[in-house]
Formats: sequence, structure tokens, C-alpha cells
Amino acid sequence: MERVLLSVIVPMYNEEEVIPETYKRLKKVLDGLKETYEIIFINDGSRDKTREMLLEICEKDQTVKLIDFARNFGHQIAITAGMDYAAGQCMVIIDGDLQDPPELIPEMIELWRQGYDVVYGKRKARQGETFFKKFTAKVFYRILRALTDINIPVDTGDFRLIDRKVSEALKQLPERNRYVRGLMSWVGFKQTAIEFERDERFAGETKYPLKKMLKLAMDGIMSFSYKPLKLASWIGSVLSMFSFLYLIIVLIQKLIFPHSTQSGWASLIAVSLFFNGITLLMLGIIGEYIGRIYDEAKGRPLYIISQLKNMEDRTGPRFKTNKD
Ligand code: UDP
Ligand code: MG
Repeated sequence: MERVLLSVIVPMYNEEEVIPETYKRLKKVLDGLKETYEIIFINDGSRDKTREMLLEICEKDQTVKLIDFARNFGHQIAITAGMDYAAGQCMVIIDGDLQDPPELIPEMIELWRQGYDVVYGKRKARQGETFFKKFTAKVFYRILRALTDINIPVDTGDFRLIDRKVSEALKQLPERNRYVRGLMSWVGFKQTAIEFERDERFAGETKYPLKKMLKLAMDGIMSFSYKPLKLASWIGSVLSMFSFLYLIIVLIQKLIFPHSTQSGWASLIAVSLFFNGITLLMLGIIGEYIGRIYDEAKGRPLYIISQLKNMEDRTGPRFKTNKD
């Protein structure tokens, strides 16, 4: 069995409390492998000591590499950069907070050797997460499944091993508002799952507040489905049908009782509020799509790197760097 190079991609955003432990546990698992490996940390514009701590590890350990972003670009962009720079024949994407157990990596490699191109972790249980988070996640994955035509597996995160083929295919998808798991389903390849229990975060707090979660959910739906747009035409046609029927009733009433004084204030307000609400909601949905089109039209690079450590620079638009 030939030895391969494995790249482990770990996004880090304000994770100073977990870095030593994550490094230790990753190292332990990776040193037990027959493969050679590199660990690529991405510092996603952290405001704490994350950058300094990662640089320190890079000094001591040449297998550790750092992509230091110029600001916070978000988790999905961070793992994209990791895949862009990874040198391995296969790569593992893993959260930096030890919620995804590194101990699963050997099993993933085993499946990869059997010929699978994507081995994703499927969450059997989620420890130490709020009921709200688990519930919204469950609902979201099912809505996404209902709205899209591609087969995006439910209850999986970004924790997975992928073959180099997959990351090369992803480089051809330049879109900015990325939902990486969806993109990986979209490119296809031979996929399989392994189940695991998602642990509690080792330390610190979630870096995915509700706002970022909603953004990710919207990206997931909007990048893979037009159905929200169709909703506008559906609701529009149903409502205009009812409105037209009501119009006829009003006209007939007026013809039969021309002098009746009707107190119509409440119904007028109700109708007006209802229709304005629906109209604004639909405009909002259209706006979300237009905003995303605008992002694409500007064609900005996905991320800006302020510094690379223990790895060489690359060229090309997606790899633009301001090297120090
Ligand atoms: N993360 C990141 N950039 C961000 C937010 C999060 O790189 O803007 C990283 C974070 O450091 C962690 C991973 O993405 O390694 C998952 O984040 P987190 O654990 O906070 O999310 P949760 O597990 O609560 O969904
Ligand atoms: Mg986490």
C-alpha cells in the first residue's frame, strides 16, 4: 500500500481556548497513521490570540501550515481556502473545536482506500447543543431537501474526507455565497457516510450565532433552488383569483343595494395589510436572489490572505495574496 499525503483542514475563528488540545489530539491520531500528512489551519480573522498561537505551532512543527485571512470571511470560505491550498491526494475537513472527533479519520481513510471519493460524517446524536440549535438544524435540512433537486444528505456537517478529484472539481465553482456541502453533492462522485456522535464543544462558545446560521441556511436554499421565487407566482395567482371573486361580490352588492352604507374600514385595513405584507415578503425573496447575483457580478476574490506560513504562494484569481 503506497503512502499518500493527507491534508487536514481546520478553520479557526477565535479559538484560542481549544487550539492546544485540538493540535494535540489531531497529532496523536495522525502520527498513528501510515500516511504522511499536513495540517492546514485557517485563521479566519480572529480577534484573540489564535493567530499568534498558530504561528507558534508552525515554527515548531513543519507539518503544520497556516493560511491567515486578512479579515473574517466565514467558515465556508475558510474551508474553501483550505481545499484550494491543500497538497494531499485526499483531505479531511474538520471543525477546530473538537466537536468532530479526529479519531474517525483512520476509518475515513480506510473507506477512501476502498474507492469512495467522499466520506462524510453523519451526526447520530449531538451532545451539548441547545434544543433550539438541534431543532432548527433538523428542520432546515429537511426543508432544504424538499426544496432542492440534488441529493444533499440530511444531518451532515462539513466534517468529511474528500478525494483530490472533488476539491479540483470544486475549484471550478467560483460562487461566492457558498454552501460547501451542497456544492459537494452537486459535483457528485462516489459518496458514503459514517455515523458518529457529535461531541460537545471542547471550550469556548459557538462561532455560529443565529445570524450566521440564518445566512448559511439561506445560502443553502438559494444556491440550490428557485422554488422560493416560484412561491411568489403561486401565492400571487391564488390571491388574485380570490380577489377577483370578491370584486364580483362587491359589484353585485353595489348593483342590488346602491344606497346601502357599509362600514368597510376594518375589512379595508385587513386586506391592505395582508396584501402589503405578502408583497414585501416576495420582494424580500427576490431581493435575496438579486443580492447574490450582484455578489457574483462584482467578481471579487473569495478571500484575501494576509500571510501564509510553511507553504508556498500560488497564483490565479482565487489565490490572490498580499504576501508580507
Ligand atoms: N469558524 C470560522 N469562521 C467563522 C465561524 C466559525 O472559521 O466565521 C470555524 C470555527 O472556529 C470552528 C468551525 O468553524 O472551527 C465551526 O464553528 P462552530 O463550532 O462555532 O459552529 P457550531 O459547531 O456551533 O455549529
Ligand atoms: Mg462547533
